[in-house]
Amino acid sequence: MEKHLCVLNYVDQLRELSSRYIQVDIEIVPNIFKWCEEKGVPEGHPFRIAKTLKNLENGRYLILINQYLTSENISSVLVGIEHSNYFSSDQIKKITDQKIFLIHLLLHEISHALDETRSEEQCDLWALSQIETNQLTLD
Ligand SMILES: [Zn+2]
Repeated sequence: MEKHLCVLNYVDQLRELSSRYIQVDIEIVPNIFKWCEEKGVPEGHPFRIAKTLKNLENGRYLILINQYLTSENISSVLVGIEHSNYFSSDQIKKITDQKIFLIHLLLHEISHALDETRSEEQCDLWALSQIETNQLTLD
């Protein structure tokens, strides 16, 4: 398993996938925390790997994803999900795959944009159900 996943390699596929659900802009940035700091956007989490912002002027969503996903990034998300107990161990195993993890990460953010009232858990479950139902993968 490669140590880092470079998200730039998949941005076209991520844009294509997102367009099936919602009109959204996707920007791959070196570091979301620094990006937010520079733009004056509040962000309290230095290790955030994805974030959805809404443009209040036109209502359009922007999804930010960090350029590199490390195995540490992935395992810390998975540990959180495992701790919350709403995924089976098979389901957790499925999103351990780096590319599936990336799809899950994107769909989680899309889920927030589709319905801002959804909880983190609901977004995770919705994202996984999309992956399973549509057998989503990245080339
Ligand atoms: Zn979320």
